[in-house]
Amino acid sequence: MQKETILGVDVCPYNYKQLMQEVDRDIKEKKKSFCVAINPEKIMKAQDDPELKELLNKATYQIPDGIGVIVASKLTKGNITERITGVDLMLHLCTLAAEKGYKVFLYGAKPGVANMAKQELEKQYNGIQIVGTIDGYEKDDEKVVQAINRSGADILFVAKGSPTQELWILEHMNRVNASIYQGVGGSFDVISG
Ligand code: UDP
Repeated sequence: MQKETILGVDVCPYNYKQLMQEVDRDIKEKKKSFCVAINPEKIMKAQDDPELKELLNKATYQIPDGIGVIVASKLTKGNITERITGVDLMLHLCTLAAEKGYKVFLYGAKPGVANMAKQELEKQYNGIQIVGTIDGYEKDDEKVVQAINRSGADILFVAKGSPTQELWILEHMNRVNASIYQGVGGSFDVISG
């Protein structure tokens, strides 16, 4: 896959179907992949923040989140045609998990929220295995890593706000045994109602 570069920030020219095929293969091959949603705000912020640019470019899949990204791709004769928002990606990963029996772990948000989000997702995605939750204010990272590893999770959603969640993922993914990593911002709050 040839990534496109918009003002120095990489973006993958995948639509949902292609991305889900890639992710599915990564899980089967036990390959670790980090997904990050790229919107025009992040691209503009990265212009004055080299660390943010580096962080975004370290991800495996930079997904095109925003019409501005599609327009920029068109202007540079790129191939990005479909917008994939961070929340939609999370929900598509839940569909994949429910269909294929992949295990999901929810890490982040205030105490109790991830557990409520788990219950909502279990109502909406028949058969989904959400194998653990932990709140985003747990100070002991080692405890978090061990809880995720004990759960046998394949997919880890981290909801601690951006860029904290992305930094957490990059710092810990070498010790976490999950395959797919996504920072999902305030999604657990939204899903839990
Ligand atoms: N949060 C957390 N730990 C922290 C700080 C924040 O778990 O140390 C959670 C917070 O409870 C909320 C989410 O991170 O659920 C941040 O949501 P926000 O909408 O601000 O994130 P954004 O999508 O704007 O990055």
